[in-house]
Amino acid sequence: MTVANGIPYDPNNIFARILRGEIPSKKLFENEHAFAFHDINPQAPVHVLVIPKGPYVSLADFSANAPAELQAGFWRAVGDVARQLGLEPDGYRILSNAGTNSHQEVPHLHVHIFGGKPLGPMLS
Ligand code: 5GP
Repeated sequence: MTVANGIPYDPNNIFARILRGEIPSKKLFENEHAFAFHDINPQAPVHVLVIPKGPYVSLADFSANAPAELQAGFWRAVGDVARQLGLEPDGYRILSNAGTNSHQEVPHLHVHIFGGKPLGPMLS
């Protein structure tokens, strides 16, 4: 089992279950590399999560262990989703928590996309 930042990959984490279709989500995008859906507790007018199709705890795990094609496809999907959401003219923020210091809650790599208003400085 993969461990990253002290966190093991739990195959029954909530995002793994969303990927398997066991739990509903408000899906925005899906291809062979990635899946994107609305966050259940939005922190901005637009708050979307993009996750890779594979058992990766965080970016620490993904960047070290995922095949290059999946890494490229995942990051392409993050940019494509932001574009499809219409966020490019005014801008947006991407964020990914990794490990305990970051307060990562779900042990499956996810990139948050925030937008739809001026977001203020980081870490506020
Ligand atoms: P983290 O703190 O791990 O970076 O972020 C986890 C995010 O997942 C939070 O923003 C939280 O609202 C979101 N989340 C947790 N459970 C669910 C769920 O069941 N469905 C959806 N769509 N989002 C969830």
